[in-house]
Amino acid sequence: MSTSLPSGSNPKYAWSEITGRDLPKRAPEQRLRDFHETHFPFDEATAREQASRCVQCPRPGCVISCPVGSPIQQWLELTAEGNFAEAARISGEATPIAEICARLCPRDHLCEDACILNGPAEPVSIGAIEEFLAEYRLAHGEGIVVGPANGWRVAVLGTGVAGLACASELVKRGFSVTMIGRAERAGGFLLRGTSTLRIDEAIVDRRIGMLRERGVVVRLGEVTGRDVCLSQLQSEFDAVFVGWDARRARALAVPGGDLPGVVQGTEFVGHARGEAEAGIPGVDVRGGRVVVIGEDDTAVDCARTALRRGAAEAVCVCPHPAGSLTCCRREFEDAEEEGVQFRFEETPVALRANDTGRVGQVVLTGTRRVEGGGWEAVEGVGHEIPADWVILAMGLETEPGVLEADFQQLQTAEDGALMVDAAQMTSVPGVFAGGDLVHGPSEVVIAIRDARLAAEGIEAYLKSRATKQNEPAG
Ligand code: SF4
Repeated sequence: MSTSLPSGSNPKYAWSEITGRDLPKRAPEQRLRDFHETHFPFDEATAREQASRCVQCPRPGCVISCPVGSPIQQWLELTAEGNFAEAARISGEATPIAEICARLCPRDHLCEDACILNGPAEPVSIGAIEEFLAEYRLAHGEGIVVGPANGWRVAVLGTGVAGLACASELVKRGFSVTMIGRAERAGGFLLRGTSTLRIDEAIVDRRIGMLRERGVVVRLGEVTGRDVCLSQLQSEFDAVFVGWDARRARALAVPGGDLPGVVQGTEFVGHARGEAEAGIPGVDVRGGRVVVIGEDDTAVDCARTALRRGAAEAVCVCPHPAGSLTCCRREFEDAEEEGVQFRFEETPVALRANDTGRVGQVVLTGTRRVEGGGWEAVEGVGHEIPADWVILAMGLETEPGVLEADFQQLQTAEDGALMVDAAQMTSVPGVFAGGDLVHGPSEVVIAIRDARLAAEGIEAYLKSRATKQNEPAG
């Protein structure tokens, strides 16, 4: 592979001479034998080559569409020049936990969708280059920078995306950080509900390990109301960040939606971790026909996981037409290669039991588009497909009851979302929040943006409070 343009080429037109590439991946027959990530990062030559396709737009759509406003064109130019260290530094400044964000961010719905090359050619492989840079930075020991100690202590509640991002950003700014998690293992929804096919648990554990090495205390198994209350945290710490994951899968509200044999998708993929091959106790899909209801990344992960667990077939029932699914294109292509089947523009209207009382059939009807980009079921047309297992992956909703005890004093909107100001501070001074509790279940990059803003906000708040305390009375 060449690392430079053909002689005589104008760098402005490199995009038309170099084929856009996504991450290299393992062969389907090989990856179907395990639960590890499908892709591996670019090598240096490929990262340089692919970055050189960027035409350096004066008003870059990629940056405008990026929720954290990462200066993408800047780090692409540096990557194309081979200045990986500086490119990785700039990328990492914008995106704490970049190695996690790069793996999970829906790039083909954000930066790569908005790339000016998307249409005339393949968009620049922004996500793949970001992952390369994140791994480069970690390999060179610069994944988490520790700032000079400022003497302030911050409690970070939650060990998922928002918590990990906020803790990383706070450490960089010199805070003493204590992370407090409800589960016995750190990682939040990254472990509990995200497939290892997209992010190996080793990647999550590595970030937590780095934080611990840099002095972050991680307290686990602490339940709100029982072990943790806000007033106690306020007396123990100078500021608090509330970043719990608070999401659960939606139920299927059709007749038979709770029959035996119906499984929640997030549990199904979440149990692919650690004791991977064991899965959920009592859920053995070997030899069975698995129908997944849904079309997002979790749905596709469920179907792929079912095949790895020995299912005879795995079918995704998708309400949208082909080409308009909510999953990432890469996920869809990987799944098709592995043998996952897709039924487009269909939705379930009922589940039927077999002779033993377990789910045996899914009754489907067609869908049609409605104004605004949504869809609705076509009434009166039904057909059945057989199913031994039905896995639900129709999106997530906010888990109720997370804000317990004196956390309930934090002001919420009508829909239960925590209210925060532009600096992510809640109605209680010194208490900041971000992620699921503020926005409901959303993309990882939203939680990362909140976490970065909150860390900035905490620093500004404590500095301003210290200034006021030092001002002469009267
Ligand atoms: S939109 Fe595409 S071509 Fe333009 S600056 Fe961004 S990555 Fe480069």
